[in-house]
Parts: sequence; structure tokens; C-alpha cells
Amino acid sequence: MPKQKNTVTTTTEEITLRGIQVQYTLKRSARRSLSFAISAGELTVSAPYTMPVSEIEGFLFSKQNWILQKLQESRDTAEKLRKKEEANPLSDLQKERLEARYREAAREVIEKRVATFHQLTGGEYTGISIRSQKTRWGSCSSTGALSFNWRLILAPPIILDYVVVHELCHLHHMDHSPAFWADVERVMPDYKIRRKWLKAHSAELSAAYEPILFDY
Ligand SMILES: [Zn+2]
Repeated sequence: MPKQKNTVTTTTEEITLRGIQVQYTLKRSARRSLSFAISAGELTVSAPYTMPVSEIEGFLFSKQNWILQKLQESRDTAEKLRKKEEANPLSDLQKERLEARYREAAREVIEKRVATFHQLTGGEYTGISIRSQKTRWGSCSSTGALSFNWRLILAPPIILDYVVVHELCHLHHMDHSPAFWADVERVMPDYKIRRKWLKAHSAELSAAYEPILFDY
């Protein structure tokens, strides 16, 4: 996540794709390009402030088969996970204890990985905190405070490493500019594969089956 706070306006929109009404969340911000994400059966579109709705819809139409297929897959996955949990629910106390242990493990691992990759990225950070963010895997404040989502400990280690490198690179670049990605790639040449995996699996890693949306 970038360091600076951009204003984001969020609205709910609707579009008909192949005769199916699809609701989506439209987030407008100072970004330069359009992107979209599907998670937990929901479509979210991020667009620049100035992009006309017709252009956004044109883009969605051009990707409609892919969008409908991914929405279905995403809903199936969320439903499967929900059924699994319903069949074998944990008590609130068990959940609390599990989270505490995961947080502890996340702190230990993430502190080590930050120290390792920091040797390659440089920059100055002021601290590391482990949080339970609902919508992001990590962040980097303007003062260099790094924070990471404890659920990263549920991901494969190479995916956790990617988020660590991503946030460390924000110590030099406050945005997701080409210079930022070039820095990420210098340290982690195969970052695109890891990023893709994280995008595809964010709903599974999120215990509440809520989408974790991010531009990772
Ligand atoms: Zn970022």
C-alpha cells in the first residue's frame, strides 16, 4: 500500500453481462489506470476519477466471460469454505487462542524476513507491527512504520516474503509507480508469480471469507 493517503470514493454500480446482472463496487481515486479484483464472489473495480462510466463499462464488457467465470469460481470457493466451517465450527475461545498463536508466529517470522530483505532493499523503517487488517496485507506509513497482517502466516513462505519486499520497497517509493515495481523486481525477479498467487487466494487466507482487496 502506498504511504500517502489518497481520497477514494466508493459507490455500488450495476452492469448486465451476458444477461446476468452483476453488482460491483466502484472505487475512484487519483490512480492512473483501471484495475479490477474478484474476491469472495464480489467484483471491485478501481478507476481514475476522470474515467467516464462508458469507458469503465466497455472494459468490463470486453472481459465479461472471464469476469463471470471468476465470479462463479470465487462464489463456489467461498461457499465450500463456509460449509466446511459450519460442519465443524470452532468456539470463539478456540478462535481467539488460535489467532493469538498465529500472531505470535507471524511476528517471529516477519521480523526475521524483514531483517533479511532489508539488507537488499535498504531504506529506514521505524518499527514492525502485526495487525488484523481487514482489507490489506501490509502497509508502510510516511514515518516508516511497517505493519503486516497476521494471516500472512497462513500463506506459503514465498508469498509472505513477497509482501515483506513490497512494503520495504515503499520505504523508497510512496506509490506503485514503474520505479517502485522495478525495485521490487530487482530484489525478487519472480515477484509477479507470487503476486498472482496472492491475488487468487486472498479469500481463502481471510478467515472471515471477507475479501482482502489490494493492489499487491
Ligand atoms: Zn503497495
